[in-house]
Amino acid sequence: MKILVVDDEQDVELLFRQKFRRELKKGLIELAFAFSGEEAMQVLASGEALDTVYIFSDINMPGMSGIELLEKVNQAYPEIKVCMISAYHDSEHYDQAIAAGARQFFSKPIDFTSIKEEIHKYLNI
Ligand SMILES: [Mg+2]
Repeated sequence: MKILVVDDEQDVELLFRQKFRRELKKGLIELAFAFSGEEAMQVLASGEALDTVYIFSDINMPGMSGIELLEKVNQAYPEIKVCMISAYHDSEHYDQAIAAGARQFFSKPIDFTSIKEEIHKYLNI
């Protein structure tokens, strides 16, 4: 299962690779990374992530925000489940994200237990 992670903080890539080491090793998931909303749209348009099942996107990014990305993805790739990641007490963005069709909202610092639950639910493990 392909997962695209979008965050302007580059160390998020290392975190995801560490936390999902087991799933990656077993070939249960593949991770791709983009460091802006614009880059995420390019990755999707390039066709190399056509079978992306999930996007986990930060909300606060320079340029295209995570909410804008969510709206664009919902329009162009409605089959992709988009989950948002933002600061814990970000209730304004929470409401916006849910209204715009986010599947889930995860808090920062990233709660990997909840993210794993979401992914494992999909993988049926
Ligand atoms: Mg950010």
